[in-house]
Amino acid sequence: MRNDAIGLVRQRRKAPRYSFVIPVYNEEEVLPLLVDRMKDLFVRLDGDAEAIFIDDGSTDGSVDCLGRLGAGDARFRLVELSRNFGHQMAITAGMDAAAGEAVIVMDADLQDPPEVVLELIAKWRDGYEIVYARRVRRDGETWFKRSTASLFYWLLARVTKIDIPRDVGDFRLVGRKALETFRDMPEHDRFVRGMFAWMGFKQTAVSFERPPRARGETKYPFWKMAHLAVHGIVSFSDTPLRMALWGGLTVSLLALGYGVYAMLAWALEAGIAQGWTSTIVVVSFLCGINLFMTGVVGLYVGGIYSEVKRRPLYVVSKTTSFGDMHPTGKE
Ligand code: UDP
Ligand code: MG
Repeated sequence: MRNDAIGLVRQRRKAPRYSFVIPVYNEEEVLPLLVDRMKDLFVRLDGDAEAIFIDDGSTDGSVDCLGRLGAGDARFRLVELSRNFGHQMAITAGMDAAAGEAVIVMDADLQDPPEVVLELIAKWRDGYEIVYARRVRRDGETWFKRSTASLFYWLLARVTKIDIPRDVGDFRLVGRKALETFRDMPEHDRFVRGMFAWMGFKQTAVSFERPPRARGETKYPFWKMAHLAVHGIVSFSDTPLRMALWGGLTVSLLALGYGVYAMLAWALEAGIAQGWTSTIVVVSFLCGINLFMTGVVGLYVGGIYSEVKRRPLYVVSKTTSFGDMHPTGKE
């Protein structure tokens, strides 16, 4: 089994009813608010709960802040990753450490309001294994972010065969069966929302209006979003590869047609002195297409390469408030 150390941490304690998995990357400004809201939420739950914060290599005071806020309260636990592994990997680490009957994944910045959790839980009690929260309105997000997100969900729906719900992030509740299935999925390219969509089970949605970030700045700059989008598509679809094939074929046919035209022009001695512009255009177009398609293939080859290395998905440097276990993070 992967991530043995963190698995032991999980097995050695009494399972609470709910585990909250909260990835944290440089969130010191918002953490005091978050912990207060979590405490309020805990008293409204119908069972005991734990909050597992995963520090994803923060460089600000997030770890100290969590240490202070959680001091003396055994329900607040902290897993520190050895460096920044990214949001999706931080969620994975949290899932590995979670012992609850139901696990709720939420962002640290209060864009996933703790109160919505009560609705997620109600659906879970109705027998749904996975309950995801759908954003019906997004406040405080730029026009650019909203439109790129909507383009991405549209593209994703077109190229993948599984039904990945639109406008759903990683804010969701999953039951034990889904959690175990997730832990059995060894892939390195982890597009968490796609993985949960893939596994089936009874799934449903709860709608909510997404408020702006409570404090601090987004930790998802454009390049991180683009990376997530590309990997989301590549890990759930081979359509880009097939498009490369058909695109290549179409362009070859066009090039062939142009070749025939050029030869005819030569044979009929028409327009021989001209043609520099068209040559440049055709050559650079073909080079561009070629490079693009090599790139597409490269994405998949890169994916295979990272799988065959079989490295651990993440490395834990320290855990706090999990009893006296201190996993080294080695597998
Ligand atoms: N996050 C993380 N690692 C990263 C980037 C972000 O753990 O490399 C966490 C971050 O602390 C937050 C969540 O992922 O709890 C979502 O990030 P953010 O709110 O910045 O994304 P946005 O809501 O702007 O898409
Ligand atoms: Mg956010």
